[in-house]
Amino acid sequence: MIKEAECYDKIDDNTVRCYLCPKYCIIKEGQTGFCKVRENRGGRLYTLIYGESSNQSVDAIEKRAFFHFFPGCQTFSISSIGCSLTCPWCQYYSISQTEVGSQVTFEITPQEVVNLAKKYGAASICYTHNEPIMWYEFIKDVSNLSKGEGIKNVLVTNGYITLEALKRLVEYIDAVNIKVMGFSEEFYRDYCKGELTPILDASKYLVKNGVHVELSYLVIPLLNDSSEEVGKFIDWVVNELKVDIPVHFIRFFPVYKLADRPPTPADTLMGIANTAYKRGLEYVYVNNVFVEGLEDTHCPRCRTLLITRYSSTFVNANLTEKNECPSCGLKIPIIGKPKASPPKLY
Ligand code: SF4
Repeated sequence: MIKEAECYDKIDDNTVRCYLCPKYCIIKEGQTGFCKVRENRGGRLYTLIYGESSNQSVDAIEKRAFFHFFPGCQTFSISSIGCSLTCPWCQYYSISQTEVGSQVTFEITPQEVVNLAKKYGAASICYTHNEPIMWYEFIKDVSNLSKGEGIKNVLVTNGYITLEALKRLVEYIDAVNIKVMGFSEEFYRDYCKGELTPILDASKYLVKNGVHVELSYLVIPLLNDSSEEVGKFIDWVVNELKVDIPVHFIRFFPVYKLADRPPTPADTLMGIANTAYKRGLEYVYVNNVFVEGLEDTHCPRCRTLLITRYSSTFVNANLTEKNECPSCGLKIPIIGKPKASPPKLY
């Protein structure tokens, strides 16, 4: 389905400039932008993927790397196609690095998305897998309907969005997990064809404007796992965001253009997590290692065990009604009440 896009300016009768993401593509009549899902038709910019869905599923929200947002609740995950970056480790490359017509998609309306989320008892709708910012207009329309039903809207995103576009999106979203790929401009330029600074700016804007933010850092052997680079990322979170933001260090597995690279050693991830705690982060998680304890939440003041998880699945919570530590009373930054009866472990 096509729909006139938001976030573009006309340059002349035949040319437009898209400002949805920091690539600021100049697009001539009949051409698409870098992401291949926005096209200039007759001097107007259109999204080619409005309501085009490539995947849908119902998952525990922890599977989407949200540990402090309605723990133990289900989320309705939905994706489309397209991305603004070109990461060679993308697990979902078949839908992110493609173009309209090359991948099967199904049309769905905003109301149908909300109806499905309700049907499956989901507390939220999670836009994920391909880059959700590509679905800007559709997300806004779904959110307009879902908010009335008490259903939240959450994004798993690369965070590569202009502040102009983000300012018009922020009221529609409740939570984001921002996937930080590395921590230098060179890294983003060389591997992702993007930039780091706009992602940092967007992250700060989201935190400042009260959106629940979690961060993920995929640790790739010999690529972005140096103590210097990871240390810069940790220090940035501590100094520029907040120490109580949940940070996930994710284990890499061989995939796509990095299929010949080994998985991240568990010791590397545990070493990084220790460094993160020592430098001041309060909620640090190691995902995809499947060792007990690495995904648990502890009180940063008295170390009481507060939430037990395994394999990115909620197991049990030990919090007061107000999400405080039952031992020392510290308020824990968790949105929503943890579900009393957890979903079955898979
Ligand atoms: S959203 Fe697409 S068309 Fe717009 S600036 Fe980014 S890559 Fe270019």
